[in-house]
Amino acid sequence: MNILVINAGSSSLKYQLLNPETQQVLAKGLCERIGIDGKFTYKPEGKQAIKEADVAMPTHSEAIKAVLDALVDKDNGVIGSMAEIDAVGHRVVHGGEKFAKSVLITDEVMAAIEECNPLAPLHNPANIIGIKACQSLMPSTPMVAVFDTAFHQTMPPVAYTYALPYEYYENDKVRRYGFHGTSHKYVAQRAAAMLGKPIEQLKLISCHLGNGSSVTAVNCGKSVDTSMGFTPLAGLPMGTRCGDIDAGIMEYLMNKYGMNIKEMLNVMNKKSGVLGVSGVSSDFRDLEAAGKEGNARAALAVEVFEYSVKKLIGSYAAAMGGVDAVIFTAGVGENGGHNRANITAGLEFMGIKIDAEKNKIRGEEIDISAEGATVRTLVIPTNEELMIAIDTAALAK
Ligand code: ADP
Repeated sequence: MNILVINAGSSSLKYQLLNPETQQVLAKGLCERIGIDGKFTYKPEGKQAIKEADVAMPTHSEAIKAVLDALVDKDNGVIGSMAEIDAVGHRVVHGGEKFAKSVLITDEVMAAIEECNPLAPLHNPANIIGIKACQSLMPSTPMVAVFDTAFHQTMPPVAYTYALPYEYYENDKVRRYGFHGTSHKYVAQRAAAMLGKPIEQLKLISCHLGNGSSVTAVNCGKSVDTSMGFTPLAGLPMGTRCGDIDAGIMEYLMNKYGMNIKEMLNVMNKKSGVLGVSGVSSDFRDLEAAGKEGNARAALAVEVFEYSVKKLIGSYAAAMGGVDAVIFTAGVGENGGHNRANITAGLEFMGIKIDAEKNKIRGEEIDISAEGATVRTLVIPTNEELMIAIDTAALAK
């Protein structure tokens, strides 16, 4: 089965054609600057990537048309015709309380996704445009929506309720939703396979540490708490997002500097996190280099981040009454060996201890626990596209 996975943003679109059974990726790439000057990247398996600039992509429709044309191209295509695409899986950021699972897209589902737009005004409308563009080009191909929030819908009220007047939940759906669900679900399933135990018997803490970061407590295969909240701004400090701060700071700074709420949120989303503290970069590699050269703020930014992850591991172990394994995934989680070492240092009292040599290995699933550790520490490369393709294939069959 060939599944086309689409992740549509407001001006970009990532795609991958893969077979979820064999896990073979036939082709992948990226359309950028949609509505501006159109950049197209296409990488067929086993061949060089093809990059084209100034490709006419006034809307997402032309971008998806360019993807389909490339996939069936005589010279660099990977399939004979569009009929070889069995289904399309769309990443959708917000499914609100309506979607606890991936779903086959129907008119009713589209209407329900649109109802979630106010919850993710920057993301959901772009996801919907991507779905509609695909539907018009491939009217008889099944389409599936896979939500970033769905995996977290198992959280109990005690974890998702904010201590605000309750009517804001009842009337306005203000609650913790959580994000990165597809990634947390994927690595939790892989962890169970690595440990050779049914996921229903495991307490896992999944640390997705990338540009955006979140930590999730997975008890018996279900998300029971997660660090992102009503929006992805909550929880850990990230590349450029501040994570949890005292909300009172907003009023203080807005009054002092005459900022409106839009300007304040721009600071919190784009100018904060490790970029804001360091003044150097949002990229952890740059921060490591700057820290080694003696830049104290770069070093502090990384320490603030690592300390926040450490505290979440402790609090989620408390929430679940124990933990069997801690998982590290995404750009920093998979590659930042020194970050993993600093995060886990001092957690020996919980049974967490990593092996310095194993911690150097990269790019593969590995148990980096030291001898005598009673809690496993696992590094698992995430694969959201594969998880989307697996869900899509199951629903399209
Ligand atoms: P996104 O959230 O955009 O998907 P990624 O999961 O790709 O992000 O993670 C990007 C982050 O991973 C960047 O901050 C980058 O610095 C970090 N990263 C990549 N390689 C390394 C490395 N070798 N050491 C530390 N961090 C790394």
